[in-house]
Amino acid sequence: MGQFEYKNGVLHAEGVSVSQLAEEMSTPLYIYSHEALVSHFRAFDEAFSGVPHLICFAMKSNSNLAILRLFSELGGGLDIVSGGELFRGVEAGVPAERVVFAGVGKSDDEIAYALEQGVLMFNVESEDELRNIDRVAGRVGKPASIAVRVNPDVDPKTHPYISTGLKKSKFGIDIARAREQYRTAAELPNIRAIGLHCHIGSQITETGPFAEAAGKVADCVRVLREDSHDIRYVNVGGGLGITYHDEAPPTPAEYAGAILPQFKDLGCTLVFEPGRVISGNAGIMVTRVLYGKENEEKRFVIIDAGMNDLIRPALYQAYQGVLPVEEAVQSRPRRKVDLVGPVCESGDYLAQDRELPELQRNDLLAIMSSGAYGFTMASNYNSRPRPPEILVHGSEYHVIRERESYGDLIRGESIPAFITGESG
Ligand SMILES: *Cc1c(COP(=O)(O)O)cnc(C)c1O
Repeated sequence: MGQFEYKNGVLHAEGVSVSQLAEEMSTPLYIYSHEALVSHFRAFDEAFSGVPHLICFAMKSNSNLAILRLFSELGGGLDIVSGGELFRGVEAGVPAERVVFAGVGKSDDEIAYALEQGVLMFNVESEDELRNIDRVAGRVGKPASIAVRVNPDVDPKTHPYISTGLKKSKFGIDIARAREQYRTAAELPNIRAIGLHCHIGSQITETGPFAEAAGKVADCVRVLREDSHDIRYVNVGGGLGITYHDEAPPTPAEYAGAILPQFKDLGCTLVFEPGRVISGNAGIMVTRVLYGKENEEKRFVIIDAGMNDLIRPALYQAYQGVLPVEEAVQSRPRRKVDLVGPVCESGDYLAQDRELPELQRNDLLAIMSSGAYGFTMASNYNSRPRPPEILVHGSEYHVIRERESYGDLIRGESIPAFITGESG
């Protein structure tokens, strides 16, 4: 994470002191590096510069308007999974013809909204959904372009919660049934089957599963073309992993090297849906130490950020690096601790059994690799306002989302007269 480094003994995000930001903005807070976002996007883009392609950033990993607009300015589009995500994309000014719409449970309203906006295509996850998109498209009076999401039955060798390409998964349609799905699609009057989609999972750290899936997908496209379906887009999804701890994932160039040979004779536009590989290591979350506490078994460090602010460790037993913001803290004696939050759940931790320098009240900590599935998974559980998001650019920074207020917590709620006893 070259954009997050110690300078003069203090962790910086590019040219901005993290400790100064924490003073000004209070904690917890998310900080992203503009330079990291741009360089990660460009590395991916350049890996595929030799072939027609579209990078649809998986916005479920980070959906701040400023970040969506940044990738759009760089020529990218979006991979969306809900009407709300489409709304964010529209508000950010991302052209709808660069948006692909995935997800197993699209509602009629979401389908109609996407048709009205003119998204590039729907990634269809079941025959039921295919027939429903046809019906809604007929009602709206706009044909729907689609790609069927096939499930190639490839083991991505990642956490089971983020494996999506196995036969037992709820996602996609068995690749062996692709021909019949496209035959069905061809018979539906408001459907244009222009692509094939596949996404096998997330945080994948070797090229093998990608190459295997790409081979199966490319074979499938050839068969569909023989059946005279005009497949012009191959969407290979996202899932390229990043270094959280000691993983050594392939670079985008190595990933491209593994999959491009499978597609080179097809002449399709390749669509990608990278999320984590672009945003993950472009952000940190900063938190402050509140208290220490010890029992016979464990020593706890209690911080002001909880699982509502960053849920990955609690949800996936995910490892995230922890760095003291003041470099001098690194030289204190190390102890094994649990880093826990204020939320009333035993699962509320950001690190477990971690060797950290002895921490004292008011020490600042950076939770590394928090740019993906960090803020987007934050909630108001325990009525905790969500943290602000700050985008650093050189020695400047901009608050791209304000900290929520207590007022935000109760917006839209009301107490009916049959409870208060007041007459209305
Ligand atoms: C989550 C998801 C992605 C992004 O995954 P990353 O691991 O963040 O790259 C892409 N496509 C689909 C369909 C997804 O569900």
